[in-house]
Amino acid sequence: MITVENLRKSFGRGTNATEVLRDIDLTIPDGKWTAIVGPSGSGKSTLLNCLSGLLKPDFGHVNYDGKDLYRLKEKERSHFRRKHIGFVFQDFKLLPYYSVIDNVILPLLYDEAKQKLYEKARQILLHIGIHEQLFTRLPRSLSGGEKQRVAIARALIADPDVLVCDEPTGNLDQDNRDIITGLIDRLRNEGKTIVLVTHDMEVAKKADDIYQLTSGSLVPYEVTA
Ligand code: ATP
Ligand code: MG
Repeated sequence: MITVENLRKSFGRGTNATEVLRDIDLTIPDGKWTAIVGPSGSGKSTLLNCLSGLLKPDFGHVNYDGKDLYRLKEKERSHFRRKHIGFVFQDFKLLPYYSVIDNVILPLLYDEAKQKLYEKARQILLHIGIHEQLFTRLPRSLSGGEKQRVAIARALIADPDVLVCDEPTGNLDQDNRDIITGLIDRLRNEGKTIVLVTHDMEVAKKADDIYQLTSGSLVPYEVTA
């Protein structure tokens, strides 16, 4: 279980400071899909970054099964993150001069034997519907939906318990949006904890719990039929 307590984050200093997250409390149950919605600029990416150990909050705690992420030393936090949290970035962040499969193995490149990693990457890619013909291609020759699936494969390479997705369907058409949403649903059913931000209610509605970020606070979102 992940718990966020009294989390606050501002950018800038003094009179120029903008408070983006005011007082966030959130509980994310294991094996469930939690969605966070909110308009552009409301702080969704900031919250995900704080939640994933990428951005230190000004105040408050982020606990993974009681372990306070920001009490860990930087090296320990980075180790914890790589082992337990897969992150899918808003803009894919695939390396342009690396092939599909080399992008996928990247997070573990220095930890495990390459041959073993390639086999693992192969299985994950096939599992999420990326054909073997695409493995050696460069990201720029892929469609948006394929790029997003490769980014998800890379987030899964270390077999994390938690998959954090920042607007994973933002740049996709309807068909690809459905493919990615279906894939995330399947990963949840296979036991992953999913935390996903989106401004797309159709995507959020597939989640177990939905929260809305407004004026720096998080409130449960009631789905009306
Ligand atoms: P979008 O839906 O467009 O991705 P978002 O909800 O993810 O938006 P954030 O990216 O979290 O929003 O940004 C929230 C606010 O914080 C914005 O006003 C943004 O300009 C500001 N902000 C984010 N990162 C920084 C930073 N590193 N330095 C200064 N301001 C920042
Ligand atoms: Mg964002």
